[in-house]
Amino acid sequence: MPSVASLEAPEDRMRFFIDGRWATPHGARSHQALEAATGDVLARGALADEQDVDAAVLAARNALDHGVWGRTTAPERAAVMRRMADALEKRAESTAVLVSRENGMPIGLSHMLNGGAPAGLLRMYADLVENLELEEIRPSQAGSTIVRREPVGVVGAITPWNFPQALAMFKIAPALAAGCTVVLKPSPETALDSYVFADAALEAGLPDGVLNIVLGDRDAGAALVSHPLVDKIAFTGSTEAGRAIGAECGRLIRRCTLELGGKSAAVFLDDGVLDTFLAGLDGACFLNNSQTCTTQARILVARSRYDEVVDALAQYTSDMVLGNPLDPSVTCGPMASRNQLDRVLGYIDMARNSDARLVSGGGRPEGLEQGWFVQPTVFADVDNNDRLAREEVFGPVMAVIPFNDDEDAIRIANDSDYGLGGSVWSADEDRALAVARRVRTGTIGLNYYTLDLGSPFGGMKDSGIGRELGPEGLNAYLEYKSVYASDKYLSA
Ligand code: NAD
Repeated sequence: MPSVASLEAPEDRMRFFIDGRWATPHGARSHQALEAATGDVLARGALADEQDVDAAVLAARNALDHGVWGRTTAPERAAVMRRMADALEKRAESTAVLVSRENGMPIGLSHMLNGGAPAGLLRMYADLVENLELEEIRPSQAGSTIVRREPVGVVGAITPWNFPQALAMFKIAPALAAGCTVVLKPSPETALDSYVFADAALEAGLPDGVLNIVLGDRDAGAALVSHPLVDKIAFTGSTEAGRAIGAECGRLIRRCTLELGGKSAAVFLDDGVLDTFLAGLDGACFLNNSQTCTTQARILVARSRYDEVVDALAQYTSDMVLGNPLDPSVTCGPMASRNQLDRVLGYIDMARNSDARLVSGGGRPEGLEQGWFVQPTVFADVDNNDRLAREEVFGPVMAVIPFNDDEDAIRIANDSDYGLGGSVWSADEDRALAVARRVRTGTIGLNYYTLDLGSPFGGMKDSGIGRELGPEGLNAYLEYKSVYASDKYLSA
């Protein structure tokens, strides 16, 4: 691991990326990004106000309506997207380190998600749009109808801090492929890394105004949501913010995709294989220090295996290695911010004062007083009606709940306001699949949980509306148009 002292300080990002240039902010507000593992200042990022957001949206509108982008073919867009992927890959190492410092993401994961994944997504959507029929001619009673798929327009993309690069690219890549233009408003906690997209866009020759980036707080987000020249909002974040954004989009009849919170269940059936479960816990429950929307923080266990699984979970979490996320041996980094740490500790205190039984962790780790560290924590005998089982903690705090049989497990798994992730653990994959089919959730794994970028991802119930990733993620940035024509195009 590079010693933290030997790392270069990241550069301040005191300008926005608007219309292909570095723009001076209208106001004077800025955010101080802190290193999650130490609490030290990393760098500053300027915060946008309503006028900065307006300038970014005008640039995006102009690029779409009057610039070259609105007239590009899919292969032309694919070519520039591939160049941007190459430019991102060149910066992958430094971006991975930067994100780990910003939000505490373990460096191995950060390499995958902040270097490889955004470039991979650009290439995946470049391939998809090149092979998509954007115009289809159908015979009609009056002659023919040309069914076109056109870009939805100017997209406002609003992202959280937990997977800042990947979640932004879930939106940017399909939007660019479809021919949309984008204004990205990232989260202040990860103030610095999103401008790597601007550096890559400049190097790739993405036309001016196609991608604009303005860091800002929730007021800037709200200004983007209600801006009259925006056609679609693509949001990832909390269910609370999603409700406000969805309500505003409804009022404005504005298209929106909402990827929100979760309280998913990992269901360990009575024939589950313990070693498989323990090997899969990182992906299902502890990914990114459990600051992951798909964290399966309700662990439902068959009564006949209950004590064995609770003991194994206690051992697993006690063995997790806490520390600076830049150290590759660390399996649990810090929380992303002081606020986030306080929130997680608050849930731990609440559960300590309930009937739940603390079996491991339960507070801050000794020797890691700097930074926002919390012990991976397991509470057993949690009631599914307890707040710990119903609300999203967004940290490494697991609630273990016993069940009687498969029916009971399905009932408890579905007894949640959310429906985003999940997993079923059984020696019999067909049996696990039968359970998985009945859980109301957008994604669910059989004996593992790993996102598939080629398949739709999103939530049921309060976990959101719409899907990202896969070919379905491209549909979300295209609108149908039917052109009624003569029959002359049928034979062409
Ligand atoms: P958050 O909702 O507080 O903020 C997310 C983004 O929205 C930030 O950029 C913020 O500035 C902006 N924002 C907040 N309120 C807004 C408003 N009223 N109008 C416009 N913009 C607004 O969430 P967070 O704390 O940054 O992220 C954690 C949350 O994100 C968790 O609930 C987590 O489950 C969720 N999340 C969901 C997914 C998913 O794909 N479903 C993925 C990652 C994170």
